[in-house]
Amino acid sequence: MPVMNLYVPGLDKGKGLYFLFIKAETKTPSGLVARPVLTSYYKSQQFKTRPYDPYNVYTSPNETILCVDSFQSMYSQMLCGLMYREEVLRCGAVFASGLVRAIKFLQVNWEELALDIETGNLSDKITDSSVRECISKILKPDPDLARFVREECCEGNWEGIITRIWPNTKYLDVIVTGAMAQYIPILDYYSGNLPKTCTMYASSECYFGLNLTPMVKPSEVCYTIMPNMGYFEFIPHDPSNPVTISRDSPPKLLDLADLELGKEYELVISTYSGLCRYRVGDILQVKGFHNSAPQFKFIRRKNVLLSIDADKTDENELQSAVENASELLKKFNTTVVEYTSYGDTKTIPGHYVIYWELLVKDPSNGPTADVLDQCCLAMEEALNSVYRQSRVADNSIGPLEIRIVQNGTFEELMDYAISRGASINQYKVPRCVSFTPIMELLDSRVVSVHFSPSAPHWTSERRF
Ligand code: AMP
Repeated sequence: MPVMNLYVPGLDKGKGLYFLFIKAETKTPSGLVARPVLTSYYKSQQFKTRPYDPYNVYTSPNETILCVDSFQSMYSQMLCGLMYREEVLRCGAVFASGLVRAIKFLQVNWEELALDIETGNLSDKITDSSVRECISKILKPDPDLARFVREECCEGNWEGIITRIWPNTKYLDVIVTGAMAQYIPILDYYSGNLPKTCTMYASSECYFGLNLTPMVKPSEVCYTIMPNMGYFEFIPHDPSNPVTISRDSPPKLLDLADLELGKEYELVISTYSGLCRYRVGDILQVKGFHNSAPQFKFIRRKNVLLSIDADKTDENELQSAVENASELLKKFNTTVVEYTSYGDTKTIPGHYVIYWELLVKDPSNGPTADVLDQCCLAMEEALNSVYRQSRVADNSIGPLEIRIVQNGTFEELMDYAISRGASINQYKVPRCVSFTPIMELLDSRVVSVHFSPSAPHWTSERRF
């Protein structure tokens, strides 16, 4: 807040609509309680009995955040958000996916929410007694508000819905860097291009840093590591010259003070809770300095996503390929709202399968099968030269396949992950899937299948 305050005045004059969730605790085999960091925080006395701070007033009462049932929690938080709609100055969730999920929830449940507001009676679906008790104190019959909600939602036009329902929203407080970048178009659509602030860079293992210039474009976001949050060390990362790390040849670790502008590093942390030189798996690039503290652009998580032959495609490359192909969808007013991938090695040769969920804004002018075939090729053209070489010269990879899935499929995927213990706050769509039940779910929702109609460009001279 001290940083946001420098850029957005008056945040003490209203409320924040944040969709925040906890998840059920589990136990490790040795009996230790295991839970994600935000669940620990929301359940702590520090959060529950926090002193009143006019800059941090949430529309969601603690009881709604602390409800372990994700439907009831979301329903009651959305209901409060609607009731306080004119006081809302910012909307958010931890990651962009959480806010997108909340808006989808509104699309499905607005009739029931409006009925509750009209009658002043909370839906029977909410059975959690502490949620019922706290909502009953604030829910009063408000036919005007109910009419407003119905008018805004009944036509199924979701463009600008955030600013229509919460007209005083100044910005969206969500992380849209890294894997979350693909939610930018849908958030822009829902919010009429409100600024999106990525305020922090953190993990369950350690808090890393914050964004000192939160109003910049997502592509320019840099995080300044706070050196007091842990001990930060760095392994130089050069994609063209990867370091081999083994017990006999430990990597050379650099301190925060030794980093150079423009270079990429892998983050290694030692934490107060006992992790010693833990490799987070994130690759960061130094973009500048705040006094002498380096400021980092989040580049990607290190793991390779897809590999059929000698090719190695990471999350960043897959994202760029999806973006490249999405260009072809623009004239059909269509965007890719969600995607994931799968290295299908059941076919010979194996090939990349990409599942797409589309938002077709004008169904009478959606992309044709031919255009979607071309999208497969456009993805291949954007992939790296090793991939294209394997396709063209080695024939060791088959034509890329796009499977279009029904709307709502990725929502189901998330529900499935949550039912298996994933945290709703920290859930990220897996960019690559291989787990059979997930594959079965995705495949059962496929509406059309498309293949690259020809081989992408590749020449032996240009190797990089
Ligand atoms: P978790 O283990 O669920 O706490 O997730 C932590 C990971 O989420 C980090 O190591 C990053 O890979 C990713 N992450 C967290 N904050 C950001 C951010 N601001 N931008 C991009 N990725 C992030």
